[in-house]
Amino acid sequence: MMTSGMVQAAYLIAALLFIFSLAGLAKQETAQSGNWFGIIGMAIALIATIVNPDTAGLPGIIIAIGIGGIIGVMLAKRVEMTQMPELVAILHSFVGLAAVLVGYNSYLHHGELSGVLLTIHLVEIALGIFIGAVTFTGSLVAFGKLRGSISSSALMLPHRHKLNLAAAIVTILLMIWFVKAEGSTFALLLITIIALVFGWHLVASIGGADMPVVVSMLNSYSGWAAAAAGFLLANDLLIVTGALVGSSGAILSYIMCKAMNRSFISVIAGGFGQDAQSGGTAIEGEHREISTEDLADQLLSAKNVIITPGYGMAVAQAQYPVSEITSKLRAKGINVRFGIHPVAGRLPGHMNVLLAEAKVPYDIVLEMDEINEDFAETDIVLVIGANDTVNPAATEDPSSPIAGMPVLEVWNAKNVVVFKRSMNTGYAGVQNPLFFKENSFMLFGDAKDSVDALSKLI
Ligand code: NDP
Repeated sequence: MMTSGMVQAAYLIAALLFIFSLAGLAKQETAQSGNWFGIIGMAIALIATIVNPDTAGLPGIIIAIGIGGIIGVMLAKRVEMTQMPELVAILHSFVGLAAVLVGYNSYLHHGELSGVLLTIHLVEIALGIFIGAVTFTGSLVAFGKLRGSISSSALMLPHRHKLNLAAAIVTILLMIWFVKAEGSTFALLLITIIALVFGWHLVASIGGADMPVVVSMLNSYSGWAAAAAGFLLANDLLIVTGALVGSSGAILSYIMCKAMNRSFISVIAGGFGQDAQSGGTAIEGEHREISTEDLADQLLSAKNVIITPGYGMAVAQAQYPVSEITSKLRAKGINVRFGIHPVAGRLPGHMNVLLAEAKVPYDIVLEMDEINEDFAETDIVLVIGANDTVNPAATEDPSSPIAGMPVLEVWNAKNVVVFKRSMNTGYAGVQNPLFFKENSFMLFGDAKDSVDALSKLI
């Protein structure tokens, strides 16, 4: 059996490994070792918690880990890469729910505390339950929106900002009451109900194109919920881990906001993107199609090619044939590079993961800011399953719901070929004038089938 000093030492090592893990995950080349640091850190944390002399109810813990582990393995085996965002959202909701349960548990067993210590403990309980409940329902709504079982358009309740503000004020008053009364089950229940409704409303009122920010924001909330649970359980490692997730999620939210040209404050307040399904100038015009044969000829006579992948490449699992045509073209001396929009796909870094999986060399995969200037010198751009992230309305139409969002300016190239199945809109539900531009051609069909067919011709 470990002593509690050994447990603390193990926690410290695990915390350091989590920091190494984050550092490793920051770069593609080191991501795999970053993952390993995380896995080893988590294994140490779990073992140390289980053998901790303070841990009671060991058989129950082992049974719970067994059942949870089996469900986790079964789900992880079944989940498709395109369902990862939903999986992440539902996992965040579990963290939120766990924080609520830990909060209630601490409230029911708050022991002999008195004076300032009791006050601090009660504040921790109220905050932990509030953050946990917001994370829980917010993540459930995000799960539904990403899965498509709830409409991705924004819910626009009348006076929604006032409702949010009223909920925040009432919650603060209830918290003061809860602490002054040295614990009140009624106040705590009210705080929980308001937080559940608040979390649901916060995410429901954010529309289509703004979902990336919501996903990273909930990631951050789940970290703070875990940190709050750490305070309640007096578990230093949980506090450190929660704070790491909370702050890295907040940094990611900031990066996503910048990528989408949104203000961070309005995200926290909720309710932006409400026009995502409406607005924008109606588009009229004819689109042109291109055959795979003509495209193959054009590619073979090109010098510079850029590929901009999007969510459709993930759905079609087209990254493997895309990687194949990339190597074939590069072998013929053609300069092929990738342009990745920060919110392409349905998860931050979604496209980078897919391309790395298909062994596309990292040095030809560039961020939007690194490549946007180069489209003008590009002979042909292959837009593979991307839509919102290459929509010129963002820069050309101030009435568009995505106006102001930086996009990959593919239309500046000599020719653009869009691989998709129909003229349908992307996730934000916004029409795309790119399809009607003079230098733009559609190649209809499943992206994998189209790229496979193309690969046979080059
Ligand atoms: P979009 O979601 O805008 O568009 C994807 C396109 O792929 C669709 O228009 C669809 O057209 C096409 N498509 C779907 N299946 C296939 C297939 N099998 N073969 C070929 N094409 C297919 O993609 P983007 O990546 O450009 O933009 C991402 C969007 O998702 C943004 O609005 C972003 O805000 C949002 N989002 C991003 C998150 C993130 O963190 N990255 C999180 C949540 C949302 P068709 O049906 O005609 O084939």
